[in-house]
Amino acid sequence: MEILPEGIRTVSDETIAPTLTSTAGAPIPDNQNSKSAGPHGPLLLENYQLLEKLAHQNRERIPERVVHAKGSGAYGTFTVTKDITRYTRASIFGEIGKQTEMLARFSTVAGERGAADAERDVRGFALKFYTDEGNWDLVGNNTPVFFIRDPMKFPDFIRTQKRHPRTNMRSATAMWDFWSLSPESLHQVTILFSDRGLPQGYRHMNGYGSHTYSFWNNDGERFWVKFHFKTQQGHRHWTNEEAAEIVGQNRESAQADLYGSIEAGAFPRWTVYVQIMPEADAETQSFDPFDLTKVWPHADFPLVEVGVMELNRNPEHYFAEMEQASFSPSNVVPGIGYSPDKVLQGRLFAYADAHRYRVGTHYEALPVNRPKVAVHSYHADGPMRFDAPRGTDAYYEPNSFGGPVEAPSTQEPPLRLTGNAAYYNHRDGNDDYTQPGVLFRMFDEGQRSRFFRNIAAAMQGVPTQIVERQLGHFAKADPAWAEGVRAALAEAAR
Ligand code: NDP
Repeated sequence: MEILPEGIRTVSDETIAPTLTSTAGAPIPDNQNSKSAGPHGPLLLENYQLLEKLAHQNRERIPERVVHAKGSGAYGTFTVTKDITRYTRASIFGEIGKQTEMLARFSTVAGERGAADAERDVRGFALKFYTDEGNWDLVGNNTPVFFIRDPMKFPDFIRTQKRHPRTNMRSATAMWDFWSLSPESLHQVTILFSDRGLPQGYRHMNGYGSHTYSFWNNDGERFWVKFHFKTQQGHRHWTNEEAAEIVGQNRESAQADLYGSIEAGAFPRWTVYVQIMPEADAETQSFDPFDLTKVWPHADFPLVEVGVMELNRNPEHYFAEMEQASFSPSNVVPGIGYSPDKVLQGRLFAYADAHRYRVGTHYEALPVNRPKVAVHSYHADGPMRFDAPRGTDAYYEPNSFGGPVEAPSTQEPPLRLTGNAAYYNHRDGNDDYTQPGVLFRMFDEGQRSRFFRNIAAAMQGVPTQIVERQLGHFAKADPAWAEGVRAALAEAAR
């Protein structure tokens, strides 16, 4: 077998081809010619192979993801290298050396399914671990923070990244209007326009769970946790100019890089770390540890090594395994829980809901999404139930016929809550400027100059009033930042 430059595997001339069949399994006598009443006659309605081909083609697409439509992924393994069982009872972390099969899907956020890979955008970093206590999905990004801290703002934010309803073009005005009116976005904007905003490929970036999650152990103690996946391939980025050239040559640069490296046996790896915060300490931090626009400083919450993730198997069929891959932060396993992070709370609903809509009611029964453990659920009916549930006398619960029952031992410790139900203003007491300022001051001279130019390029055509509002935010984070962008804008206008 030879692998062609485009990744296609050849077969030998002696390979015996299987017989083509209808979807009902019957042999197809002719797949080149339609059946007609004589050589120039009209086609026959009984030519079912033609009808089936045309009808299937009409149904070959499912709605693309509203966000993260363009992506690539692969299968691999997660291996435990360090013991963290004092924090969590999750079986995936049960012992050093334990391996768990997993799936990763990376993506850009804003572009449609045919968009180019080498675009400045956040990258999705979605993982599914097929653990022996059910699937655990960690649906993060290549950035530790996000643009918003309240899910109420998510649909509006995404609208600003998509096409304008009249012009049908992306709108820099909409983006900067929203960002400048939502200063909590500043931290993510900093990363987006830094070098890390345009990775050369998915192998060359970190992944972050982004949200705060919780761990709980066998003693019923809870810890807050952040997940970090550090690339072992090294960070590599394109400048805007390099990316323009790449896009001109290859719109699938990240797909080609990931697919090609795995086919060549150069399996990408990430070292996995967690940051841990004892439950009660959340109340004594100078920042809100459940705010998705903030990181936990490394100095206060050092990275604790956990394991290594390796991707080593390409999917055989992109549609079946990547287009239908369905990740949801609601998929946790005993020992891992949610947190009061509001955006996480919103995603617990929205992700599974998106899959029910775009893939179908039984999306988790598809091979790529199916857990490796047996599923015993009473949600049996609905479109495309393709296996027959056993024990059909026990089709409700409770029952006297041996149907599945709950497992109280897997209940997480109670979540301690205070406060009254109300619309809490997410801006109150929140500092949107310190952490972006810290990151900005870490950039060396070259990084700063590219950063200023990237922002100025993205602001072309944006009304002055909006630009000035945003420059006000930059100045609050660091006066040198606003001055640098102002100079880059003047340079671009020359
Ligand atoms: P540290 O000096 O310990 O951490 C700085 C971190 O910045 C590095 O470890 C690296 O993260 C990350 N970094 C470097 N260049 C960039 C870039 N262009 N875009 C995004 N991240 C970059 O300090 P702190 O922990 O106090 O964090 C300082 C700032 O670093 C934060 O305000 C935040 O903006 C950023 N940061 C912090 C992270 C955290 O979890 N504490 C994670 C990522 C960024 P990494 O090691 O993950 O590659």
